[in-house]
Amino acid sequence: RAKATRRGSHVIFESAIRQELENRLTLESELALAADRGEFELFYQPQVRLIDGGLIGAEALIRWRHPVRGYVSPGEFMPVVNTSALSERIANWVMETAGRQARAWELSGNAVRVAINLSPSQLHSGDLAHSVAELLRTTGLTPSLLEIEVTEDILLHDEGRVLDMFKRIQQLGVRILFDDFGTGYASLSYLKKFPLDGLKIDRSFVLDLLADSDDAAIVGSTIGLSKQLGLTVVAEGIENRATADFLVSIGCEEGQGYFFGRPMPADAFEKQFLAAELKAVSAA
Ligand code: C2E
Ligand code: MG
Ligand code: MG
Ligand code: MG
Repeated sequence: RAKATRRGSHVIFESAIRQELENRLTLESELALAADRGEFELFYQPQVRLIDGGLIGAEALIRWRHPVRGYVSPGEFMPVVNTSALSERIANWVMETAGRQARAWELSGNAVRVAINLSPSQLHSGDLAHSVAELLRTTGLTPSLLEIEVTEDILLHDEGRVLDMFKRIQQLGVRILFDDFGTGYASLSYLKKFPLDGLKIDRSFVLDLLADSDDAAIVGSTIGLSKQLGLTVVAEGIENRATADFLVSIGCEEGQGYFFGRPMPADAFEKQFLAAELKAVSAA
C-alpha cells in the first residue's frame, strides 16, 4: 500500500510539473505574440528632489497591455521573458522606447533623466555597450539623461565581462545605478568591485522606515556610506510625506514612490509633471 501511495504522489507530482511547463510555454508564446502586436508599454514614475519635490527624472517600468486582462505588471511576466529567447528583443525595445521618449522630452525643453531596468540575461545578451552607443547616436539624446538600473544578480555572472561593459557604458556618459540595494547577499562587496554611479535603497527598507528602528538604522547607514563613496542615493517606496521628511532629515536627496506619483503612461506623466514647463516653452 505504501508503495502504491508513493507511486500515486509521484504521478501527481509529475503532472504538476507538466502542467507548469505547459503554462510556461503558453505564456512564452503569448509574450512573443504580444511583442509582435506591440502590446508592451512603458509607464513612467517620477523621481524627485526630496527637499522641494522638484522633478529630476523618471523610471521607465514595463507593462503588458493584455487585450483581455488589461495591464499586467512585470512581476507576472518578466521572469518568463528573462529566461526565454525574447529577453534581448524586449531589452532593446525598452531601451529604444525610453531613449526616444527622453529625447522627445529633451527637445521640448524638459531635461528629464530616464532610468531603465535591465535584468541579468538582458545585460549579457548581445553587446549592450554597443546598443547604448547606437541609441545615443540615432536619437541624439544627451547621455546624462539616460540611466541604467541593474540588480545584484547581474554581478553573479562573469565579473571581468561586467566590469568591462560597465566601463564602456559609463565612458559614453550614461550612469549605472545599483537597484534594490540591500536585498542581495553581497551588496557591499559589489560596491567595492564595480564602478557604480549610485544606488537605490530597496523599498522594503523604506516602507516601514518610521515604525521600524532597524530599517531606519540600515537606511541611515546606507546614505552615509553612499556619500562617503561619492554615490548618488535614491530611496524607493516613499508612500507618505512623513517618510519623505524623515529621509531629508537623514541626508537623502532623491526619492520616488506613490507619494510623489505612481508609474503612469507617458502622456499622463507629461500632463502631470511637465505641462507647466511645456506651456512655458511654447509661449516663449
Ligand atoms: P524596480 O526596478 O525596483 O521598480 C520599482 C517597483 O516599485 C515598481 O514596480 C514600482 O511600481 C514600485 N513602486 C514604486 N513606488 C512604490 C511605492 O511607493 N510603494 C510600493 N509598494 N511600490 C512602489 P513594478 O512596476 O511592478 O516593477 C517591478 C519590477 O519589475 C521592477 O522593480 C523591475 O525589477 C522589473 N521591471 C520593470 N520594468 C522593467 C523593464 O522594462 N525591464 C526589466 N528587465 N525589468 C523591469
Ligand atoms: Mg528599478
Ligand atoms: Mg528597485
Ligand atoms: Mg525590484
